This record gives sequence, structure tokens and C-alpha cells, in this order.
Amino acid sequence: MAKEKANFAARFAAFFFQLHQRYRPTKQTKYFCPHCHNALYRWKAQPLVTIYKCGHDQCPAFLKAKNKLNNSEKYLQQKKLSQFKLRYQYREYHFQPSDLQHAAPDLPKINLNRIFNSSDILGLVLAFHVSCAIPARKTAFVLRHIFKVRISYQTVLNYAESAAYHCHVFNLQNKGPIDNLSAGDETYIKIMGKHGFVFFFVSTQKLKITAYHLADTREVLPATIAIQEAIRTADPDQDLSLITDGNPAYPAAIHFINANRTPLPALSHHQVIGLQNLDKESTDFRHYKQIIERLNRTYKAHVRPANGFNTRNGALALTTLFVTHYNFLRPHMSLKYQVPIPLPELNSIATLQGKWVKILSLASQAAV
Ligand SMILES: [Zn+2]
Repeated sequence: MAKEKANFAARFAAFFFQLHQRYRPTKQTKYFCPHCHNALYRWKAQPLVTIYKCGHDQCPAFLKAKNKLNNSEKYLQQKKLSQFKLRYQYREYHFQPSDLQHAAPDLPKINLNRIFNSSDILGLVLAFHVSCAIPARKTAFVLRHIFKVRISYQTVLNYAESAAYHCHVFNLQNKGPIDNLSAGDETYIKIMGKHGFVFFFVSTQKLKITAYHLADTREVLPATIAIQEAIRTADPDQDLSLITDGNPAYPAAIHFINANRTPLPALSHHQVIGLQNLDKESTDFRHYKQIIERLNRTYKAHVRPANGFNTRNGALALTTLFVTHYNFLRPHMSLKYQVPIPLPELNSIATLQGKWVKILSLASQAAV
């Protein structure tokens, strides 16, 4: 028996001795290649991510990727190895809680309780500018020439930014429970001529927006922040599934969240890829993907009149107010003309501007 054990140990040692040192398992080995089961070596360490790589030359994933290259690509690969990602890589993200903050509008310059105009005017500004998607200049025009209220377009923007600060807190506090299935996507907007990305998640039965994170990229960190906010109010034992497109940021973000989620049930993920259903997953979940695409179109219709934003905070303010409008004020055909999150406090209020004023007063009470 002891001899057998010794034999086995010798064969085991011989096997690993053949391996290059860098992928021979050591005490520090944390990860193994899912294709060839050899140890991954630490390839790159960056502040937010450490990348591990499989260096085994007989790894099936590596051989398969290498065979796919044509002759000129093979030549380039020999010259410049890192240009082709042929080897299996594992990315270990180490975001800190301080990295994972959902975008929030800045503290406002003006106090809504001390504004020159009455709260009715403020309600009208939000009803026209946000709910009816009328640009700031036109909103000022309508108020001036139809309602005889002298107001500048800058005042419209200032009111919107101040209201957004309070509405953001209100949106997150009043989100309520979420459905088992959530769909997410990112859409771009223009801020000072550059692309900004808004990551939306929507709960697929109640049709409420559960995250609306604004970021400069469509990468793993903003995807993680949006997903984390989207599932924040779920029941701890709820089995949650997320539906997204093929952006690789989503599986990486879900992997990071799941790694930090034990013992809670892991999030599952379904990707809907391309415009046609070429795989079963895309066929089964496309319906949910369409919910988020419709939301994106509605959002675009609301921000397009702004024709790009001059400040990041202006973009975030209009996005935040759009979410307040969408979740609490906008009747939805598939919800039998109910709003996604009905608030009993708004039942007795007949006008849209009245409802906006009520939401702001609830938001400021909650802040106290
Ligand atoms: Zn491998």
C-alpha cells in the first residue's frame, strides 16, 4: 500500500515536473484553468483587476483559438504575442465599497424652499420639461408666453438640477421589492461632445426602473454598480436572474457579485445576443430584452430634445427626473394604465404638476 502511494506521488511529481514553472501549482495558486485544469499564473496586476492566465501549451482552449488563426494572423501572433487573446484568462476584480457608488446628482446650488416662484411654477416646469420632454428653452418660452410667468431657461435647468438631487434619494428609497427577472442594458448620451453611458435595469413584471447609473465607459465597474443597485431591495433568499446583451462586462460583473454574495443564492445570467434568435437562450429571453429596449427608446425620446448636455450633472439630473417620472407618474399600457410604483399620497391629486410638487415635498420630508 505504501509502495503504491509512493508510486502515485512519484507519478504526480513527474507530471508536474514536466510543466513549466509558471503554471505549476504553488501554495499561492488560487485558480485553475477550466479547460486543462492546470494552475493559472498571475499575469497582470492592476488596481481594480488582477488577470490570471493559463500558460499551458497543450491547453485545449489555446489550441482551438490558435487553429482558428489564418496564416498572416499566425505570423503576427509570433511577432506580437499579446495582440491575440489565445490563452484562457481569468479576471479577479477587487472593487472596494467606495468604488461601487451609484451616480448621484450634485448638492444643488439653489434651495427649492427659497425660490422666487411658487411651488406651482416649479411643478409646471417639471411637468413640461421632464414629463412632456420639452427642452429647457421651450419650457421657458411656454411659461412666458402662455402662462405669463417670466422665467429664464437657466432657471428651468437650475430647478431641474435641484429637484433631481431630492428625487434621486426618493427614487432609491421608494423602489420597493423587485421581480425575480430583471433586464439591463446601457445606452449612450452625449455630454460635452463625448459619450456617456447610462446603465438601466428594469424589473420585468412591475416594469420599474431599479438602477440608472451614469458612467464614462460600458465596462465592468459601472455594470457592477448598476447590478448591485438593481438587486439591492430583493429578498435575501430570492432567486434572481438578469437578462442582458452580449457585453462581456455583465458576466464579469455578475461573477464579482456572486463571489461576494455567499451564502445568498447566486445571481443567474441570460444573454440575448444579436438581432435574430440563433440560440435557445436568446429565444427564451428576447421578450425581456425587448422590455429594456423599449425603456431605452422612451429615455432617448426624453433626453434627445436636450441635444447633448453641457455638464455631467445636467445629464444626471434629467436622467434622475426621467426615472421619477417613469416609476411614479407615467401610466403604463401593459400595467392597465397604472404607474409602476403607485404612491397612495398621489391618488387625490389630479394634475401632473401637483403630483410633482407632492413628490418633492415627500422627498424633502424623507430627507429631514
Ligand atoms: Zn488551460
